Amino acid sequence: MSTPSKIEKLERRRSRLIGELLKTQAMIRGSFGTVHRKCGASNCWCAQAGGHPVDRINYSEQGRSRTKAVKSEDVSWAREMTENYKRFRKNRQALRSLEKQINQAIDDLEAKVVDKTARQRDYVT
Ligand SMILES: [Zn+2]
Repeated sequence: MSTPSKIEKLERRRSRLIGELLKTQAMIRGSFGTVHRKCGASNCWCAQAGGHPVDRINYSEQGRSRTKAVKSEDVSWAREMTENYKRFRKNRQALRSLEKQINQAIDDLEAKVVDKTARQRDYVT
């Protein structure tokens, strides 16, 4: 594939990725998870079994890992919002990698065009 068509192809992918990013209407920073905690009451079922499920969002703030409890009626919402965030971050990562490739391809293009032009006159290098 020629360098210009390679750049155009990458640019179309870049444009689709930005479209995906712009579609995101709501998200929560962090990931959803469920842990099981014993409540401490010796007569509770959980003293023998795994513990009570606690739904929460895990996130990091200033390099520290933190959690927020999620109300049971909000579990599916919180899952969806953290999935949106995950997808958004994944798309941003893909965008960064694509932009790097576009930049490299433009470097190639520059070198090729400069070389080709230099061959037109013997005093141009
Ligand atoms: Zn318990």
